[in-house]
Amino acid sequence: MQSYRRGNINLDTGLHYLGGLEKGGILYSRFLNLGLTTLPWKRMDLDAFEEIHTPKGLYNWPQGIDRFINAMLQYFPHQREGLEKYCQLLKCTDEEWMQKTNAWDYLNSIITDSELIEVLSAPAMCKMELRRQSLPLFTFVHGTAAFIESSWRLDGAGNILVECLMRQIKQLGGQLYANKEVYKLFEADGKIISAICKDGTEFDADIFISDAHPATTLHLIEDSKVIKKIFRRRMVTQENTAGMFTLHLQVKPNAIKYFNRNILVTGTNSVWDNAIDENHVVKGIMISCPLADVINGYATCIDILTPMSWDAVKKWEDSRVFHRPDGYKEMKDSVARQCIGMAASVFPELEESIECMYSSTPLTYRDYNAIPRGSAFGYRKDYQNPLMTIVSARTPVRNLLLTGQSLMLHGLHGVTMTAEYTLKSMGEN
Ligand SMILES: Cc1cc2nc3c(=O)[nH]c(=O)nc-3n(C[C@H](O)[C@H](O)[C@H](O)COP(=O)(O)OP(=O)(O)OC[C@H]3O[C@@H](n4cnc5c(N)ncnc54)[C@H](O)[C@@H]3O)c2cc1C
Repeated sequence: MQSYRRGNINLDTGLHYLGGLEKGGILYSRFLNLGLTTLPWKRMDLDAFEEIHTPKGLYNWPQGIDRFINAMLQYFPHQREGLEKYCQLLKCTDEEWMQKTNAWDYLNSIITDSELIEVLSAPAMCKMELRRQSLPLFTFVHGTAAFIESSWRLDGAGNILVECLMRQIKQLGGQLYANKEVYKLFEADGKIISAICKDGTEFDADIFISDAHPATTLHLIEDSKVIKKIFRRRMVTQENTAGMFTLHLQVKPNAIKYFNRNILVTGTNSVWDNAIDENHVVKGIMISCPLADVINGYATCIDILTPMSWDAVKKWEDSRVFHRPDGYKEMKDSVARQCIGMAASVFPELEESIECMYSSTPLTYRDYNAIPRGSAFGYRKDYQNPLMTIVSARTPVRNLLLTGQSLMLHGLHGVTMTAEYTLKSMGEN
């Protein structure tokens, strides 16, 4: 949720839009409890919050599940039976069944038109890892249905959400510390006694909850007496989802009108398994316009996202922020140019409107968030592996709990639900 400033603009790292914030929606009561509904949320275009450009056509997604299905029926009238089943799926609450079902296989079992599968999946391209072999239907539906119900943007930088949460923690008597990197969790008698930070400060507590990636957390207790090798191996070697290439374009004043929707552009490759690999070819992009710095209805910043695997950056893995080799910078530039080229099919004026650009890769996310291989969404969930579809919040260390996207679900909606799950596990301790 962090945002940062470059020059005059705010850049958001991982908050572009949210789903399910309408009254009665999946996030509404949770955000109400957290005091977050008072923030300036702006609903995205009701008739087209996702605009999808494929080589075969242009498709708009309206908000509301029934309206959405009706729109898809207009584009694909011959797929009525499949779309009716898809409608039931979006409203389905049988989570156990969905956890054990492969998303790609399921979509193909109800829908026979491959273009429709592309259209139904395209917005998920930058919201989850669309991996044919493993993605559980549960993850697909959770990352799709709430956004179709209603989609929202924050009218401001992501930091206002962070600041709002900070205020509440302080009001409840909590204290917050920034720039404290924990490098060791000190364990004695099967419990964590203290968290020791790199700057030498030490924090004692009865209960420790770690939001860092589980593998990162386990590295902080290498000498644990209670964590068995088998548990550590499972948590450390578990595969992670691919990362993301993000491109922030600062654009000239009055050049590009603000658009209150996401624009997806796909090429001839499927949106499934389309992460950029070692060949550095961009296969599909999401274009988003943050509301934070809109002036007189015109954008000051345009974000472009595309999935990127670790293989794309592996050869520079020994480099660190501010000390990247030229080859890495050239790769970033080439990927950025391809993204801009793809976006030009929708915004022909984009290239000449760019003032400057900033980009990040899985290496950036690895170095700033301490997430293995710069994964965008943490552990890769696999419909065939129930142990890893929902990871326990409890650890062999009795007062150490886990939370965050790797446990159950990712995205702001996912981590909020995961926090509740951790809280429940704490009660069981
Ligand atoms: C490019 C991109 C765009 C996205 N867009 C959206 C979106 O539009 N909407 C949406 O809902 N979701 C979006 N997401 C997903 C969402 O950002 C994540 O699912 C969510 O932020 C994960 O939260 P988390 O708390 O699990 O992990 P993180 O946000 O990664 O938090 C973990 C924190 O732990 C800290 N940490 C790690 N190790 C240590 C240590 N040793 N000591 C102290 N601190 C430590 C890290 O610095 C980090 O701040 C996006 C993700 C990406 C990558």
